[in-house]
Amino acid sequence: MIKESTLREVDAIYRRIVPAGEYWMHVVCEGETLRLLDLEGNQAADTLFFNADDPAERYSASDTIREQGNIYLTAGSVLRSDICRPMLTITADTVGRHDTLGGACATESNTVRYALEKKSMHACRDSFLLAIAENEQYGLSKRDIGHNINFFMNVPVTPEGGLTFEDGLSAPGKYVEMTAHMNVIVLISNCPQLNNPCNAYNPTPIEVLIWGKGA
Ligand SMILES: [Zn+2]
Repeated sequence: MIKESTLREVDAIYRRIVPAGEYWMHVVCEGETLRLLDLEGNQAADTLFFNADDPAERYSASDTIREQGNIYLTAGSVLRSDICRPMLTITADTVGRHDTLGGACATESNTVRYALEKKSMHACRDSFLLAIAENEQYGLSKRDIGHNINFFMNVPVTPEGGLTFEDGLSAPGKYVEMTAHMNVIVLISNCPQLNNPCNAYNPTPIEVLIWGKGA
């Protein structure tokens, strides 16, 4: 569902450009609103959420899909934790569909999907591991990396039940926005993938903006 934001960029309390291939890890507090902006279009922002007050509680694709009765994420979607609590609600979306089935790219999946010699290429799972290693204060480890959301990514399920990675629906300047229901650690890998048509084989930067509670 396409829904425009009512927030003004000048009122944002935080903004940061995240280049392709880099991660962004930050706590978004309860009541704050996070916007991910696809600066050049068709980028994939692989995203994990953890309860900042108890990181053992984390985003769950299966709970989110079951409770909303829909496999795609868009405005109105409530992103739920593994104990089914609302973590964030998507409040605006100018793309219309985001994926939570395809998972993050990994060196292992790159060898299966593309070719054995892709094993050494940088993948989102590497960025997730680097982020938790460089940010020990959150107390996360490799076992905390679960299934993720791929914002801006178009992964349709076929009538036969297959998954296909398609050209993105996003475009320069499109965005998705969500308001936090708890203090959440947000971990984004801005995907470095060079083998996937989702980003037109051209990873590009995204921008992250945050508005304060009640904005
Ligand atoms: Zn990736």
